[in-house]
Amino acid sequence: MEKTVARNIVKGGGFLFNHSHFSEIFIPEEFNDEQKMMANATQDFIDKEVLPYVERIDALEEGLMPSILSKAGNLGLLGVNIPEQYGGLGMSFNTGMLIADIIASTGSFTTAFGAHTGIGTLPILYYGDETQKEKYLPKLSSGEWKACYCLTEPDSGSDANAAKTKAVLSEDQQNYLITGQKMWISNAGFADLFIVFAKIEDDKNLTAFIVEKSFGGITMNDEERKMGIKGSSTRQVFFNDTKVPVENMLSNRQNGFKIAVNILNIGRIKLGCGVINACKQIASQSTNYANDRKQFGVSISSFGAIKQKLSQMASKTFAIESASYRAGQNIDDQVDVLMAQGHPEDIAKLKGVEQFAIEAAIIKVYGSDVLNEIADQGVQIYGGMGFSEEAPMARAYRDARIAKIYEGTNEINRMLLVGMIIKKITKGEFNLAEELDFFKTGMNHENAFVSASLSKEYKAVKDLKKATLMIMGKALEGYGSKINEEQEVLINISEMVIETYVAESTLLRTLKLIDQSGEASAELFINLTKLYLFDAVRKSKNAGYEALACMIDEDTHLDSLLTVMDQLTAYNHVNTSRLSRDIAEEMILQNKFPYTLYS
Ligand SMILES: Cc1cc2nc3c(=O)[nH]c(=O)nc-3n(C[C@H](O)[C@H](O)[C@H](O)COP(=O)(O)OP(=O)(O)OC[C@H]3O[C@@H](n4cnc5c(N)ncnc54)[C@H](O)[C@@H]3O)c2cc1C
Repeated sequence: MEKTVARNIVKGGGFLFNHSHFSEIFIPEEFNDEQKMMANATQDFIDKEVLPYVERIDALEEGLMPSILSKAGNLGLLGVNIPEQYGGLGMSFNTGMLIADIIASTGSFTTAFGAHTGIGTLPILYYGDETQKEKYLPKLSSGEWKACYCLTEPDSGSDANAAKTKAVLSEDQQNYLITGQKMWISNAGFADLFIVFAKIEDDKNLTAFIVEKSFGGITMNDEERKMGIKGSSTRQVFFNDTKVPVENMLSNRQNGFKIAVNILNIGRIKLGCGVINACKQIASQSTNYANDRKQFGVSISSFGAIKQKLSQMASKTFAIESASYRAGQNIDDQVDVLMAQGHPEDIAKLKGVEQFAIEAAIIKVYGSDVLNEIADQGVQIYGGMGFSEEAPMARAYRDARIAKIYEGTNEINRMLLVGMIIKKITKGEFNLAEELDFFKTGMNHENAFVSASLSKEYKAVKDLKKATLMIMGKALEGYGSKINEEQEVLINISEMVIETYVAESTLLRTLKLIDQSGEASAELFINLTKLYLFDAVRKSKNAGYEALACMIDEDTHLDSLLTVMDQLTAYNHVNTSRLSRDIAEEMILQNKFPYTLYS
């Protein structure tokens, strides 16, 4: 059985308004033996069953992807979060995140795996009735059946609820006849089961259906010719009076949009976490290449410009890893609380994720952005070879790009996450005015436990929160309920919120590591934290300035806010080249990403 650890329960988005102690957060170094065993088994599967076949997968070799998914099913990897009674392993949310992290190194397979286990399976797990769960989940968990999720249409992408696909009740009232066109459907080419969103009559909202391929009336276009993840099946799917028994409606009529949104919350956080191993792999390959490649008579890894890139790769990977598992455990803890309060398991799990929808969006945006940055740096380190299909970076670069587009584009997620925080403020769940009191009381920083080597970072994170809330407060004051129309401001605020959460998660993880094993053995992590913090503060400062610049007009004078902004983002004492060199030296020595969590 997995070990559960009692922790204080925090609210989703609460990180902006409270300061957590490091003892309250989970760090990936705390995975238990069973979780480490799962991680190793997954890595072994990837090494043997996926990585040797990437070229054949990318060539869309007939039958290959579904056969690999079936093998994953045999090992239990498709049912990690499905309860044992439906053929799954019934493991925790964070264990599911861990599996998503390791699967991440596989490009096209990552998408096929995510579409099947996430958006394809979870609507049934969380919204299916008992008969539907018993009928479908064992088949999906074992990999006997493969699933896909049909929401997007040619004219409805981000605006998903505008879908036009229709479901018409048959005269004998036994079936719905579904007609419409879906687009960009991952796994469509080999799926046995389709989760389909359609509108009944003139309903405002979508309704979800479980559609078996065997129901008939389903045709498809050829595979899309894509920029990346070329081995993932992506097709347009046409439903032509597809006869779906009424008992295959998921949940209630018009509940489909809610299902889509809630399932995407889960997809999102797993997508964000599901970049970690890809980042580590790119960092390891880049280090190895940089050590081997000689120019001007020396390895290119000896150049500061290369070290700078390697160290950035490591610090940002450390950061997304810290944030992902902190949030994953928050969800597990919340689920435990809800179950203890008497909620059934499936409802508790759904509500647990919903509570951390802000963090889920943060992790999606940050993870996908970081993967893209790291892949870009990887190409650069490889030089001309980075542009060649003979080396691994071209594929990594192409495969990374989609993460910023699906599961809600990053723009939509950015606005969503700020919108959710504002909603919580408006509903009185968080008190912005009280937090902004620091303007009246001065800018003191109360003392809390801090390690000597990270005291400035502790202050920097607190100041980031203040800076973020200050800009949010100013925007709310200026725009009131019309703030949603000010997307340029919201996007900049989202940058500050994201950097604040990730920075705090990174700092707290390192403080916990220092507490557990002392400063000397945590030296690498201290360096990673400082380097990351420098970047986070710089980005937040730029975003804050830009948000304020959006608000300037003849009557609005923002000089005092800009001065406060400067004070709150004055984390400038670190020598970044020294940090960068220290981190990179460690990578160069090990010839790979600088630390290992499980072996
Ligand atoms: C490879 C791949 C696999 C996919 N797999 C699936 C799948 O399995 N199932 C499925 O249902 N869908 C899938 N999708 C679809 C994917 O979810 C959509 O592409 C995505 O939601 C964006 O929708 P869109 O392409 O219509 O872009 P649009 O919504 O047209 O967006 C275009 C641009 O406008 C911006 N934009 C849109 N609305 C706003 C707004 N209100 N404010 C500000 N900016 C806005 C977007 O951020 C984006 O930059 C997949 C897509 C791809 C490419």
